[in-house]
Amino acid sequence: MTRKIKIGNITVGGGEKIAVQSMTNTKTTDIDGTIAQLCALRSAGCDIARCSVPDRESADALKEIVKGCDMPIVADIHFDYRLAAAAAEAGAAKIRINPGNIGDKSKVDYLARFLKERGVPIRIGVNGGSLESKFGDLPLDDAMVESALGHAKLLEDCGFYDTVISVKSSNVKATVSAYRKLAAKCDYPLHVGVTEAGIYEKGLVKSSIGIGALLLDGIGDTIRVSLTDDPVKEVHAANEILKALDMYRGAYAEVVSCPTCARTCIDVKGIATAIEEYASSLDVKLKIAVMGCVVNGIGEGKDSDIGVAGGKDRSAIFKDGRIVRTVSNDDILEALKEEIAAEVKELENK
Ligand code: SF4
Repeated sequence: MTRKIKIGNITVGGGEKIAVQSMTNTKTTDIDGTIAQLCALRSAGCDIARCSVPDRESADALKEIVKGCDMPIVADIHFDYRLAAAAAEAGAAKIRINPGNIGDKSKVDYLARFLKERGVPIRIGVNGGSLESKFGDLPLDDAMVESALGHAKLLEDCGFYDTVISVKSSNVKATVSAYRKLAAKCDYPLHVGVTEAGIYEKGLVKSSIGIGALLLDGIGDTIRVSLTDDPVKEVHAANEILKALDMYRGAYAEVVSCPTCARTCIDVKGIATAIEEYASSLDVKLKIAVMGCVVNGIGEGKDSDIGVAGGKDRSAIFKDGRIVRTVSNDDILEALKEEIAAEVKELENK
């Protein structure tokens, strides 16, 4: 079990629910734009968000940003321990910095003490693309693990243990292997992700495999899906990964739909998309199936609470695998919404 660490009002590690993270891609000095993006991330289900702090102006902007957003903010710092201290002073709930890059021990000591006094943890973020040259002879996974533990040791030498670690690369196999080795060697909470994963679909596949494999192993306390896209999509993807693994923190309505084939009688994609949108705000546990035909549909959807199985002109609405009514194909959407609303009411009254 990993140790518990507080990042603002969110606890990660020690068996807590997996926290979803993302990162803004606005200029941090654009205070309004950054707050707007953070609010969008929060509404999408993000728990913790990171902002780059490349200079003093960004650290100053962070003061306003943390006030404008109801979510712990992580300041991403490269090298400069004074900027890290300024970001913590501005209200950052965590600092991402690699202590080995800060400089001599007195600077690490200063920052560790400064952050410890304020209860601000550090994330050590090792990236396979920027490893120290001394690890050049090691395989990538081992090199990332050794690098991460080396950074952690610098903090431990200062009596600082409020550390979260990530060991990401764009290579899924090396990333998964590195996290597995790291998890066996330390009890720090792990921030899991595949970095530079790519544009939407490619990044989604790589992240789902990497993050999914690790979460199934019980490894990972907080996750980030890295996409070259709108960060809100990262949060949606992270939540879908958690839902697929039954690790999502809340109740939600799940829509399943058949892949369609020559037997398909109805617009499965259109209906499933509309129902997905209709059900996206429901916070009850409900499984809804949209199946293209009656031949296999009711059987395939029988573990669903509500569903439709398409017929030539009329389709069957079923509940728990039993047909409860048939409707004209033009009325499927309306009928499904009625049944869902009735089911939700019943669940809420239980
Ligand atoms: S449920 Fe029916 S339409 Fe859908 S894939 Fe199966 S057989 Fe084809």
